[in-house]
Amino acid sequence: MEYKAIVLAAGQGKRMKAGFNKQLIKLGDIPLIIHSLRLFEQDSQCKEIMLVVSREEKEDMQHLVQSYAVEKVGQFVVGGKERQDSVYAALQAMTESDLVLIHDGARPFVTQDVIGKVVAQANVQGGAIAAVPVKDTIKKVTSGAISETVQRDDLWSAQTPQGFQYHLIMTAHEEARQAAYLGTDDASLLERQGNQVAIVESDYLNIKLTTAEDLLFAETILKTKEKTEHDSNRTRV
Ligand code: C5P
Repeated sequence: MEYKAIVLAAGQGKRMKAGFNKQLIKLGDIPLIIHSLRLFEQDSQCKEIMLVVSREEKEDMQHLVQSYAVEKVGQFVVGGKERQDSVYAALQAMTESDLVLIHDGARPFVTQDVIGKVVAQANVQGGAIAAVPVKDTIKKVTSGAISETVQRDDLWSAQTPQGFQYHLIMTAHEEARQAAYLGTDDASLLERQGNQVAIVESDYLNIKLTTAEDLLFAETILKTKEKTEHDSNRTRV
């Protein structure tokens, strides 16, 4: 099933405290955003990538994508103030497509297997997201004290990619804007309309680089993945 990918890189990444857009931080020898774009470049089902960037960084991003020869990036869309505004800008700029996959540029480790499952489920169910079961015990805190320990059994952490049929996600975004509703992910906009969104079990390595310590995890994940790849390519003498 073919799809178009929206890759988000228009945030300021203030919590990373790098002093510049975290998507430009090098992981191994390569900028974070290039790792993320390559996931879709390598997926034969992806027919186009729309990269969402800030106005100030548009030109730099264009040069970067060119110098790393990421060929599927068809459009550079200028994002908005909130993540939701950035997604909406990309949806508006898109010529209609059946399936859209939305992915955080700051998540470079999602597997091809998970991407494939999200695409397949979104095609059948209308919407599907990558997620993992919550491992910690979650407390609700009110005025500095625990007011509730939330039942963990049915709690999942939402990740990206999140895949949708185009008309469903476009309508959900338009209705959310009209109601001035700001969700923390795209699935929540469909949920508020009463639409079912499927869960695809992902893995804990699909982290989003948010704060500086995430870089330590990311370097380790990258080395482990490269070693696994290297070992599986090794031939016997
Ligand atoms: O800030 P956070 O890491 O949660 O953002 C998730 C993704 O959304 C990042 O890749 C970020 O660049 C992107 N984003 C965006 N436009 C915004 C805010 C965030 O494209 N206004």
